[in-house]
Formats: sequence, structure tokens, C-alpha cells
Amino acid sequence: MTERRRDELAANLADVERRIAAACAAAGRGRAEVTLIVVTKTFPAGDVRILSELGVRHVAENRDQEAAPKAAECSDLPLSWHFVGQLQTNKVRSVVGYADFVQSVDRARLVTALAREAVRAGRELGCLVQVALDADESAAGGGRGERGGVAPGAVAELADLIAGSEGLRLDGLMTVAPLTGEYAGRQQAAFERLMDLSTDLRTAHPAANMVSAGMSTDLEQAVAAGATHVRVGSAVLGVRPGLG
Ligand SMILES: *Cc1c(COP(=O)(O)O)cnc(C)c1O
Repeated sequence: MTERRRDELAANLADVERRIAAACAAAGRGRAEVTLIVVTKTFPAGDVRILSELGVRHVAENRDQEAAPKAAECSDLPLSWHFVGQLQTNKVRSVVGYADFVQSVDRARLVTALAREAVRAGRELGCLVQVALDADESAAGGGRGERGGVAPGAVAELADLIAGSEGLRLDGLMTVAPLTGEYAGRQQAAFERLMDLSTDLRTAHPAANMVSAGMSTDLEQAVAAGATHVRVGSAVLGVRPGLG
């Protein structure tokens, strides 16, 4: 059973690796410029362990309730944990206990809570501002995306807040390709917009150079646009049981 699962994950991982390598070659980029993050949500800790043995170094989760026990079971593995889901402030203490990166930072109140808990835990937490390319810029507060994230016009202020917070390190930007609005069905254009926002961000924060974009179906477009991190779930682990 475990042996079969290992073969399956190894084959899927090799396929994803080939896709990333081909996308890098097509874009004239070095393979080392793109980091694969495997999104392990809904799959068991046993799969995470196999992935670690197969050489995966970055994993991502989107629900604290599921991620906290999984990370605890895998605490002996040389993995970086990325939190990529919408995060309630009452889950922040738990998330700061295992996450190395929170990619879904999208409001000032969350920054304050993350900073407080990171300081309390004596750690430095990497933060990415999640950008909602489908947000309504004209809404109060700059608008929010359907799946979390701040409108492009609100990125700079939130980034400054993170950069000025003890316990937090501003690492870059993240997005999920919108299903609605002007970028619906235009992943590459969406990711290019994220790259432009990253260029703007780096004039004020040169070290904040992570650009997290692209999933199983659109990793090629993300690599073409210049993403430094792709977040791949189903192409490695298979179709997720139920929602997620
Ligand atoms: C689930 C998820 C992914 C991975 O999606 P797949 O389509 O399974 O590759 C990437 N990013 C976020 C934020 C996710 O929630």
C-alpha cells in the first residue's frame, strides 16, 4: 500500500518536475529560480513523509485545524511549512507554532496578530501579501477578493506595515488566479500583473522578492510570467477527496 503510494507520488512529482523544467527552459529561466511548494491539504501526514523522502522541501496547507496536527506529526522532517489559506486571527497562535511562511496576509489586523504571536514565540515569520486581482478597488478599504487577498492599490500600505513589524519579515507577494473579473481565464495576464506589483514592491523593499503564483493547471503561465514559487497540489497528490 505505502509502496504503491510512494511509486504514484514519485511518478507525479517527476511529471511536475518535468513541467517546471520545460517552462523554465521556454522562458529562458534557470530551473533554480523556481521553487516547488507541494500543497498537501486533505492528504495525510504519511504522504507528507513520503514526499519529504522523495526530496520535497516545501509544503503548504490552507486550514489550521488540519495543518497543526499534520505538522506536529512531521516535525522531524526537514520541511518548510507555508500557510496559504484564509486565516482567522483566533488561529494565529497555532499557525505561528509551525508555519515558516504565511502567504495569505491580507489585512492589518492579521499583521498585528501575527507579529504579536511571532514575538511571543521568539520567531521570525516570513509573510507574503496575498493580492486579489479580482477585488473591487473602489470599495471601502480597497476591496477584497472572493478568496481572500487585498486589492492591488492596498498592497504597499500592508507591505509597509509587515516590514515595520517586529517578528515579521516581508518576503513578497502571492496570488490565486481569479475565476471572475477582467482576469478570468487569463492566468498569464494575471500573473504578469502580479509581477508588475512585485517590481513596484521591490523599489521600497528590495529583499521582498518572492512571487508565489501558479497551481496544478497554470504553473506554466506562472513560470513564464516570472513566479519564484509555484504551489502544486492535485498534480502531485491526486484529486482531493471532497472540497478543499
Ligand atoms: C489548494 C491550493 C493550491 C493547489 O491547488 P491545485 O490545483 O491542487 O494544484 C494552491 N494554492 C492555494 C492557495 C490553494 O488553496
